[in-house]
This record gives sequence, structure tokens and C-alpha cells, in this order.
Amino acid sequence: MARFEYAPAPESRAVVSLRSSYGLFIDGAFVEPVDGGSFNTISPATEEVLAEVALAGAGDVERAVAAARRAQREVWAPMPGAERGKYLFRVARIIQERARELAVLESLDNGKPIRESRDVDVPLAAAHFFYYAGWADKLDYAGFGPAPRPLGVAGQIIPWNFPLLMAAWKLAPALATGSTCVLKPAETTPLSALLLAEIFQQAELPPGVVNILTGDGATGAALVARRDLDKVAFTGSTEVGKAIQRELAGTRTRLSLELGGKAANIVFEDAPLSQAIEGIVNGIFFNQGHVCCAGSRLLVQESVAEGVLDALKERLGTLRLGDPLDKNTDIGAINSGRQLDKIVELAASGEREGAERWSPSCAIPERGYWFPPTIFTGVAPSQRIAREEIFGPVLSVLTFRTPDEAVQKANNTTYGLSAGVWTEKGSRILWMADRLRAGVVWANTFNRFDPTSPFGGYRESGFGREGGRHGLEEYLDA
Ligand code: ADP
Repeated sequence: MARFEYAPAPESRAVVSLRSSYGLFIDGAFVEPVDGGSFNTISPATEEVLAEVALAGAGDVERAVAAARRAQREVWAPMPGAERGKYLFRVARIIQERARELAVLESLDNGKPIRESRDVDVPLAAAHFFYYAGWADKLDYAGFGPAPRPLGVAGQIIPWNFPLLMAAWKLAPALATGSTCVLKPAETTPLSALLLAEIFQQAELPPGVVNILTGDGATGAALVARRDLDKVAFTGSTEVGKAIQRELAGTRTRLSLELGGKAANIVFEDAPLSQAIEGIVNGIFFNQGHVCCAGSRLLVQESVAEGVLDALKERLGTLRLGDPLDKNTDIGAINSGRQLDKIVELAASGEREGAERWSPSCAIPERGYWFPPTIFTGVAPSQRIAREEIFGPVLSVLTFRTPDEAVQKANNTTYGLSAGVWTEKGSRILWMADRLRAGVVWANTFNRFDPTSPFGGYRESGFGREGGRHGLEEYLDA
């Protein structure tokens, strides 16, 4: 069938004013790091250097924690909840006002399509601040006792896949409770957190309530190594999460971890199939598959497997890969050369171990980091691509015959973050949800997020919950 050609539809960069260099955000101001280190952040779609960013060392961590401690004791905790709520409402509204700027900046620094940063990341970040703003004066009724006290100072380390949204997930509940924060964004995506710092200044958030330390793994490690934090909240790889857990074992610092996943997206023969195809695409190709709860294992009932795969391949042929700032782009850039190498290596292992690899024909830009949407069929549960988190646009397809077999295969993983079930029968959804060992089970949808809904995993996907009433508990001394 003839298709119309798409004309380029780039979102303008003019709305973003990048500075050539950024300092650390400590005690309400942008400051130079004590030891003067810095690094560059680039656009993964073009490899263009976007800005030079300060690299925080142990001395900076000390300054930031001291500022957070003072602000917590003297200003933020004593403030009535209704007043704290006003600041959070103000932050939420400024995020909405500056939504376009945040979306363009996020797509530049991260490589994700503007359609996603504009329609998902930024609105959800605002929604988290709105939601927790509403809790700030209602903590007595949150179910954690009549007068729950704030926990204190939290060190928060976030990854590069949803830079602004993960900052919002971490900061909003902590601030609502009267706790204060030292946030460490990922080294490849520091810019939206720094714009958020400007938003905190604009909202006149009291100095020290949020401190933002840009840096690398060593900066994160220096934050965790302090013994005077009341809480560490980490989202990232299982490997680093385990190291942090070892480091904090036996200390008084509370910990929550949101780590990797290898979610099963399970399609039964009675599922609404064209809707399921969209759900499969959304499950694994949203955000280039850089999603810890991605539906990276498709379990499809044998009787419909052939039809589902044909339809899926046809749909993948319509996805548009390229410029993240183009409003028609579906698949953006891989976030870094390091991540691309990991994806390439794991995909090669899939072929070596005997699975069959397929991608639609699509032109890959010359510069930048790219990986085409990829499907592996004939995947055996023992293969690496069925067990290890790829964190890229790669789907491993397995089949099953009975619901019991689907449950057994879905749970055959060390992770437990999310799962999806596609079926017409409500009773089957409940039956499956009872048996799937995952923190979130989506039914006839996937990758659906809402600030009122708790999110988190078990087993090697971590522990603790973010979002909803449950998210408050992590920052309350209850
Ligand atoms: P990925 O491998 O996907 O980049 P990481 O777990 O390495 O994921 O990174 C997630 C976040 O953790 C980033 O902000 C990173 O800088 C930080 N980080 C990396 N190593 C450590 C560490 N040893 N201790 C604390 N934080 C770390």
C-alpha cells in the first residue's frame, strides 16, 4: 500500500537557552565544585557537546548534605504542611508553564523522541508534584499514625532513562513529608535536573531543601558512603543497587532500590489482538526500551503466535527512527555509546545461542548512537536474551500453551518488577495477577503510570515503593 511521505517536523530548539557550563546546585545557588572537576554532556543523537557540567566530589557532597540537614531542621520540617504544599503546587505549575522547554531539553540530552518527553515525561513529572502537594497537609490521614514525622535527609540517585521524571518521583514525596534531599542525576543526562533547580529558584523554594549534585558513579558512591543520611533512594542497575545495599547493611540509613527487570508481556489467544500489538510495541519500544519495567519478553499463546508475529512485524515496519526532536519520530537515539555496546553485545549473543533475529529495514543516521527495533524468535528460556536485561529496543519472543505454562515461564526470572496480561476474560486476569511475581501487573495495557499508583519490585528488582500513599512511607519516620 502506498504511504504518504512524512515531511520533517522538528520542534524548535530556540525555547531552550543552554549555558556553556553549569555549577552544582547547593543551598539554593549554583556554585563551583570544591575541587573544580567537570565533564561534558552530549546529545546522543548527534554527539554534539551540549554543555560542560560540574563534577561533584566528596567535599561537595559534604556541603550539600550539611545544607539539606540545616534546611530540614530549621525551615522545612517546622513549616506547616499546607505551606510546604504551596511550594510543591508552585513547582508543579512552573513545570507546566515551562513544559516545552523541559521537553526539548530532555530530548536533546537523553535522545528520547519529543513526542514522549512532551506527552509522557513532563506531564507526569508535573502530576507527581501536584499529587504530593496534595498530601503535604494531610499526612495525619495517610495511615501512618496520627502525626507522622519526616524522616530527615535523603540521598537520591537516579538513572538516565527518565531523567526529569525520576527526579520528580524521588523529590516530590520526600518534600511533601518535610524531608529534604540531595539528588544525584546520571552523568549522561544532567541537564533537566539543572533546569529543575532553576525552577526551584523561581518557586523560591527555601535554600537547601533540594540540592543537586551532578557527577558520575564516584559522586553517587561518595553520597552513599556518608553515614549521616537518613535514607538512600536508588534507581539504576541491579549491580550498583547490590553494591549500595552491601555498603549500607548494618547502618541506620534506610534504603529503597528500584532496579532492573525482565518483564513478561503475556498474550492469550482470546486477547484483542490489534490492541495487544500496540501494547507490545509500547511495552518494549517506548523510550528505545530504556525502561526497567519494559515488556522485554513476549509470551504469546502458541495458537496465535504466527498471526501476532506477522502483525507485529508489519507494525514495526511503520515505526520511524531518527531525530528525537522530530515530532513524527517513534524511536530516538540510544542514550550513550556504552549502552549501545551493551545492546549490540547481548543481541549478538542471541544470534550465537540460536535465536532468530529480525528488524525492519530502516535507515540509521550516520552520527550518534542508534539501534533498530529488533525481534528475536525461537528464544529458549536459557538464552541470555531471555534472562538478562537488555535495556534496549530488543524483544525476545517465547510461546506457551496453557495458563500454567505462561505463569511458570513469566516467573522464570530473577527479577520481579512488572508484567502484562492480554486476555478478554476478567477472571483470567485476576488468576494471572495472583500468580505473577511482579510489583505491577498491567491488564490489557502496558507501561501505564499514574502518581496515585505505587510502583516497585521484588526479588532482584529491588524493594520499596514510589508513587501513591505508599511512596510517602519511604520518607516518614513512621
Ligand atoms: P547504568 O549502568 O544503566 O548506567 P547505573 O546503575 O550505573 O546504571 O547508574 C544509575 C545511577 O547510579 C547513575 O546516577 C550513576 O551515576 C549512579 N552510580 C553508578 N555507580 C554508582 C555507585 N557505585 N554508587 C552510587 N551510585 C552509582
